[in-house]
Amino acid sequence: MEKTVQLYEGKAKKVYATADENLCVVAYKDDATAFNGLKKGTIVGKGVVNNRMSNLLMRLLEKQGVPTHFVEELSDRETLVKKVKIVPLEVIIRNVSAGSFAKHYGVEEGIVFDEPTIEFSYKNDDLGDPLLNAYHALALKLATKKEIETIKSMAFKVNEVLTAYFKTLGIRLVDFKLEFGRLSDGTIVLADEISPDTCRLWDINTNEKLDKDRFRRDMGGVEDAYKEVFKRLMGE
Ligand code: ADP
Ligand code: UDP
Repeated sequence: MEKTVQLYEGKAKKVYATADENLCVVAYKDDATAFNGLKKGTIVGKGVVNNRMSNLLMRLLEKQGVPTHFVEELSDRETLVKKVKIVPLEVIIRNVSAGSFAKHYGVEEGIVFDEPTIEFSYKNDDLGDPLLNAYHALALKLATKKEIETIKSMAFKVNEVLTAYFKTLGIRLVDFKLEFGRLSDGTIVLADEISPDTCRLWDINTNEKLDKDRFRRDMGGVEDAYKEVFKRLMGE
């Protein structure tokens, strides 16, 4: 399926239409942003890593019963996906304290939780993706009650599957962000990407950060961290 017109250019990906109105092509760029676009840069090779990693994980999730938008990997940077209407919620699951959780609640990073947490933010760049709860999401008509329940249980299932999988690669899944979308018949599927841009991934033995925090925090070794995750995923 060939891409036709560009529908959207985001911070990390472009989305194209195809001849089939229910399918689109996502193309992954090397552009990196942080702090709601305030920090900009390039992570060489990131588009390839994020595309291939997302596809591998989406295939794994499909096998484990989580419906996703994935259809077919077209090339190193491009993938055919089911076109969805994105539910404007960023769904964040955490297993270990880090980032904004550590900051908001005044705790150190690295505290392992007894149970994972879930939180939502309103996917709205102009407002800076503000945090909200399920009642706020209902009040704003971002999703229905049933959709929110579906999204919650799918997100926890994704966490179970990915936590176990990353463990086999010597990686601790600290936290991550998911996006969900509605197919034309209203079915909720997992969409967007799962990558070092959207997950915190720490080496299980050394706690070395293997994700976008190296870019956010100017730690250096950004490309190498993405390459290391990719290498472990591809079993090289
Ligand atoms: P952003 O919009 O946050 O800058 P990206 O650069 O990653 O993010 O752009 C990709 C856009 O495509 C996002 O807005 C994302 O919600 C959207 N998207 C992801 N998967 C699909 C899909 N299957 N169908 C339609 N849109 C999608
Ligand atoms: N995240 C993301 N996109 C966002 C915000 C967060 O992919 O717009 C991911 C981030 O990579 C991390 C998790 O969600 O894995 C939790 O992020 P946090 O709330 O700690 O925010 P941050 O510290 O990134 O501001």
